[in-house]
Amino acid sequence: MDFEGRQFCPQCMRILAPDGNCPVCRTFPVALPDQLESGTLLRGKYLIAGLIARGKTSLTYSGWDEGNAQSIAIREFFPRGLASRDVQLSDTLTVKDEDAPVFAKAYTAFAAWQSHLCRMQHLPILDCFPENATHYIVIPFLRSPAFAAWKAENDRQESSSMV
Ligand SMILES: [Zn+2]
Repeated sequence: MDFEGRQFCPQCMRILAPDGNCPVCRTFPVALPDQLESGTLLRGKYLIAGLIARGKTSLTYSGWDEGNAQSIAIREFFPRGLASRDVQLSDTLTVKDEDAPVFAKAYTAFAAWQSHLCRMQHLPILDCFPENATHYIVIPFLRSPAFAAWKAENDRQESSSMV
C-alpha cells in the first residue's frame, strides 16, 4: 500500500522495510519486480505461491509441488547486488558483464553445495535444479497444514505404541 511515497503493510499498516519486508508480520506483502510472481511454474511442476524470506544470497518462496501434492519451500540463488531481474521482462536473472566472473564463481559454489545436500539421504530435500540462469532447491514446507497433520498423526502413533 503506497501512501505519500512510503509503502505500508496492508495487513498491519506498519511502514515496510526497504526490501519490502513487514517487520511485524514477517512477510513480504508487496511483491517487488525482482521476485518470481505468484503462479510461476518451475521445472513444470513446482508452483510459486509467495515470497517468505529475502536473504543476502537467496530468495525463498512458499509453493506447491503438483506431482506430490504437498506444500514446499523453494530457495532461489539470487545474490544481492550481483544479479537483477524484472519479471515483467523475463524470469531469467540478469548479470552485468563486469559482475559475471564473480557471479559465476558464487553460482558454482552454491550449486555444488546444493547438489551435495541433495545427495544426503537424511535431509528432506526434494529436488535441486538449474533454471532461469540460477539454481533452486526444494524442501517440504514444514509450517504447512499437511506437515502439521502428519506430525499430529505421527505423535499419536508414537504415544499409542508406548502403552
Ligand atoms: Zn504487517
